[in-house]
Amino acid sequence: MRYLSTRGHTDRKSFCQILLEGLAPDGGLYLPEHYPHVDSQKLAQWRGIWNNQGYAGLAFAVLSLYIDDIPAADLKALCDKTYTEQVFGSPQIVPLKPLHAPGAPTPELYLEALSNGPTLAFKDMAMQLLGNLFEYELARRSEELNILGATSGDTGSAAEYAMRGKKGVRVFMTSPNGRMSPFQQAQMFSLLDENIHNIAIDGVFDDCQDIVKAVSNDLAFKRKYKIGTVNSINWARLLAQVVYYFAGYFQATKNNAEQVNFSVPSGNFGNVCAGHVARMMGLPIAKLVVATNENDVLDEFFRTGVYRVRGTADTHETSSPSMDISKASNFERFVFDLLGRDGSRVAQLFGPAIHEQGRFDLSSDPLFAQAAQRYGFVSGKSTHADRLATIRDVFARYGVMIDTHTADGVKVARDHQQTGVPMLVLETALPIKFASTLVEALGREPDRPVQFNGIEALPKRVQVMPADTELIKQYIATHCD
Ligand SMILES: *Cc1c(COP(=O)(O)O)cnc(C)c1O
Repeated sequence: MRYLSTRGHTDRKSFCQILLEGLAPDGGLYLPEHYPHVDSQKLAQWRGIWNNQGYAGLAFAVLSLYIDDIPAADLKALCDKTYTEQVFGSPQIVPLKPLHAPGAPTPELYLEALSNGPTLAFKDMAMQLLGNLFEYELARRSEELNILGATSGDTGSAAEYAMRGKKGVRVFMTSPNGRMSPFQQAQMFSLLDENIHNIAIDGVFDDCQDIVKAVSNDLAFKRKYKIGTVNSINWARLLAQVVYYFAGYFQATKNNAEQVNFSVPSGNFGNVCAGHVARMMGLPIAKLVVATNENDVLDEFFRTGVYRVRGTADTHETSSPSMDISKASNFERFVFDLLGRDGSRVAQLFGPAIHEQGRFDLSSDPLFAQAAQRYGFVSGKSTHADRLATIRDVFARYGVMIDTHTADGVKVARDHQQTGVPMLVLETALPIKFASTLVEALGREPDRPVQFNGIEALPKRVQVMPADTELIKQYIATHCD
């Protein structure tokens, strides 16, 4: 399999070539040259793999179609090592929980549990694999990598838990000092591994991001200290996420003639883009429901055909904070497919159009109608009031506590139900991560998985620093020897 850029660059690369890269050289995102087709025979075979070998076996089957530069036995070992009951808390890895009222003929919805990994958010599903892939590939090349990132919570901790103790990798993670929830701070700062460096910046999240950008723009420093990232545009992360769409389908259905719908709490369009890839491969998905919070960039596009990025001032701080985005960084991948893979048109839209006007408008293009008709996308938006009402309703009706992001998924899913088609809502985090909103909704603290009892009291390892790029560079340089 070869990979190409969404902006039309003529280079074609293999999986391991793009694994450690960010954007393509022309600023585009990498996608496979084509989506391998899973016909009914193969789908039947994969259902058997799911039943007999579980998640790791299924992951190997999916990944093998896209990765031809890692020997099969090694790839299999990487999948087996990643997706274990020990790390993900259950033998199914992504168990399906029906929300079923007593006496009702069928469940109203299913929650697909993606958030039982080490940091209790779905980002572990891909990041844990990425950690093992990085370690493998760096050893093969005898190289090192220093991951520099900025986080306001979920991404940073998922990256640290995936990279801790990995050979050849160090993580330098900046976060705004004192602004993450106490639980999130405890999760990150209690990691004592030598290759993990927590840097709490005196400032806000944007200051952290500015520092990361400034360091990355110093090309000499970047090359000398082998600076890289693990952001959500990485193709390997997206690919790892494709697997749980298949796993959800096999759990919700009995035979491969059935269809399902997925509702996906969305911010950067990474999670639901993996659903798009699964659907393009032939998984019988009727609808992909894109659920946004008050930051409704994506809902606006799917309703109107206008993609309009927001400024910092128009980006809302919400109670589903991991979906607080001003632009959807993976969305370009879908637009590339929607526009018949016309790289020069995508380059125009995401280059000059976005930079100069902050928006583009496909409403009068006949291809826009295909987003719904051919690709199955529908969308909706959920607000703080919707979130509270949904958390209360799901708890009252089913006795199940859901987190704020998952609540957005449930709220929007309910507006797109079809009789006879199971609706799977992706559960993207556990409620304990967003305890204050749960208390607001239910008047009580959410349940805490036992392994997190008392983490706030553990010893912490964190360096507090001013928002000063030069000092951060010095810190990285001294810790790279
Ligand atoms: C990152 C995140 C999301 C959004 O996922 P995207 O891939 O950015 O659309 C939703 N919920 C939670 C809990 C997250 O951490």
